[in-house]
Amino acid sequence: MTGKKVLILGGGFGGLAAAQHLRRLLPPEHRIVVIEKKTNFYLNAFNMQLISGEMKDPCEGQRELSELGRKDIDWVHAEIDRIDPASKRVHTSTGILEGDYMVIALGADKRPEAIPGFTESAINLYEASGAVQLREVLQNFHGGRIVIICCTTPFSCPGAPYEAAFLTDSILRGRQARNTAEIHLYTPEPRPLPSTGTVMGEGVLAMFKERNIEFHPQQKTRRIDSNARKVIFEAGEASFDLLVGVPPHAAPRIAKDAGLTDETGWIPVDLRVLETRFAGVFAIGDITSIRQPNPTGFFLPKAWVFADEEARIVARNIASEILADANASKFDGTGSCYLETGDEMAAYGSGSFYSYPAPRVYMEPPSKHFLKERRELERERLEALV
Ligand SMILES: Cc1cc2nc3c(=O)[nH]c(=O)nc-3n(C[C@H](O)[C@H](O)[C@H](O)COP(=O)(O)OP(=O)(O)OC[C@H]3O[C@@H](n4cnc5c(N)ncnc54)[C@H](O)[C@@H]3O)c2cc1C
Repeated sequence: MTGKKVLILGGGFGGLAAAQHLRRLLPPEHRIVVIEKKTNFYLNAFNMQLISGEMKDPCEGQRELSELGRKDIDWVHAEIDRIDPASKRVHTSTGILEGDYMVIALGADKRPEAIPGFTESAINLYEASGAVQLREVLQNFHGGRIVIICCTTPFSCPGAPYEAAFLTDSILRGRQARNTAEIHLYTPEPRPLPSTGTVMGEGVLAMFKERNIEFHPQQKTRRIDSNARKVIFEAGEASFDLLVGVPPHAAPRIAKDAGLTDETGWIPVDLRVLETRFAGVFAIGDITSIRQPNPTGFFLPKAWVFADEEARIVARNIASEILADANASKFDGTGSCYLETGDEMAAYGSGSFYSYPAPRVYMEPPSKHFLKERRELERERLEALV
């Protein structure tokens, strides 16, 4: 049998997970090539530890991609300029590459510039530098209106802005500075974590109430007036002393140019095997739009727990085809996540997103045990991926 080549576009969470699974399943004559423009991998979930101060420097949570060579995975350090899915070929800043299979894991671009005033006025929660900045500001915050905005939907990790609100509350309480601060969260969502069904959202709202955090649903940000220190929504506005934001997300432009996206702006895939409309071309992780097979109309959340499992399924199916064995698998839409709630605790949600007539996701109340589990899982994934 001649060796096959699997091209993996993007060396973030999903791409690296797919590479690891494939390397484990395929003999060495088959090549696994990860094309990634950055030189290192950073686990975004560590932003919460940067805010709480548990992690001091983002470098502690990142790994050099040059280490992939030790695992017999090829890393091409290049920017992908064009994808030709029909021929499984990519044009990059360092040349053209062609494979027998393609796994697209290019994630979601974060576009703060899409909201006028965001870059000048808001701390970007989705950058490690923003998380560090938030920690420093909260250590010196002496009262006023703290506003957290989710500019548009969908966004990665639907729990992250809620975690930021809990951590903000917890840090200020720890400093005896909570009484002079208001915390408000504005989002276009109808309730927290809507794609999980109702249980988690209701749980979060109950905890917000206990902690005096104000929730403002169905508020889509239009612009930020930096001089007046106001967020202008499609309906109404909110003044702030400290603004923290989740920037708009979009699929990388090259996916649209390749004809891979649909009207959602993301790549639709088969919800069981994650194949795009091009045979042998798969998409996983944040770049996909996977509509839940139930009448809610919600999509699968953009979270690494799903990118990880989708990577495992795609790797298994590619390996099964190459090796002509009968080990093909199907993605079942189950997943779980930890939600940090401050006071060194986390809640735990898990369930099925493919359930009918609505997703069935349950939530265990916050405990120190779940935060410990989350920390262990984050460390384990970082070590496994690079
Ligand atoms: C602050 C924060 C906290 C989070 N916390 C959690 C959590 O606790 N639990 C959870 O499940 N999820 C969490 N997530 C979400 C999780 O990080 C994503 O769902 C996950 O990273 C998706 O993996 P991916 O491979 O699809 O995309 P990414 O990990 O974003 O990887 C995409 C990669 O593609 C590369 N790329 C893009 N365009 C090009 C190009 N043209 N050429 C070359 N390379 C390119 C990028 O540089 C990037 O490395 C969090 C996200 C954020 C931002």
